[in-house]
Amino acid sequence: MAKYTGARCRICRREGVKLYLKGGRCYADKCAIERGSYAPGQHSVTRRKFSEYGEQLREKQKLRRSFGLMERQFKKTYRAAEKMHGITGENLLLLLERRLDNIVYKMGFASSKGLARQLVNHGHFLVNGKNVNIPSYIINSGDEITIAEKSKKLETINKSLESSVRKGAFGWLDVDKNAYKGVFKNIPERDDIATQIDEKLIVELYSK
Ligand code: SF4
Repeated sequence: MAKYTGARCRICRREGVKLYLKGGRCYADKCAIERGSYAPGQHSVTRRKFSEYGEQLREKQKLRRSFGLMERQFKKTYRAAEKMHGITGENLLLLLERRLDNIVYKMGFASSKGLARQLVNHGHFLVNGKNVNIPSYIINSGDEITIAEKSKKLETINKSLESSVRKGAFGWLDVDKNAYKGVFKNIPERDDIATQIDEKLIVELYSK
């Protein structure tokens, strides 16, 4: 499946929920969803009635798109979640939550998940002192994420850090922005993750 390169707000409008794909704008009144602008085109999600399969598919697309993942990457994460102890749907959400690019975004080092992925790819971050340039790298309790010395002057990172939008919003993260570092204190509980996703529908879809 080809990577979607169109307007990101259009994806949120199509799904009818905020997927937070555009950084600061997502937290402002300018957000298309906040302004009540829903799906583009005549086949609006908000106007259509879905079959059971359609509901399950939409839920999967919402979660996949909110992390900017291709189908293959998403399914790989799902299969990993299946092999873990516990509830598959919750495991899936928590594995996605623990991706390095997501943590970089939530620590405020990048203004969007897309930018976080790009910055990780370009080697701007260290995990426990070692350079990691794999966005899907899974972070564990106690891991320390630091900005590489050469990257501390990067305007994009400093601008993101200046924004206090997500400051203190996540109890499982401890960020020291003056030291350009943060610690992933512990794996959050399912209920700690604010998401409009019904993960059970995704499990039903993949269990067919
Ligand atoms: Fe656009 Fe962000 Fe609002 Fe989505 S959440 S519609 S990406 S501004």
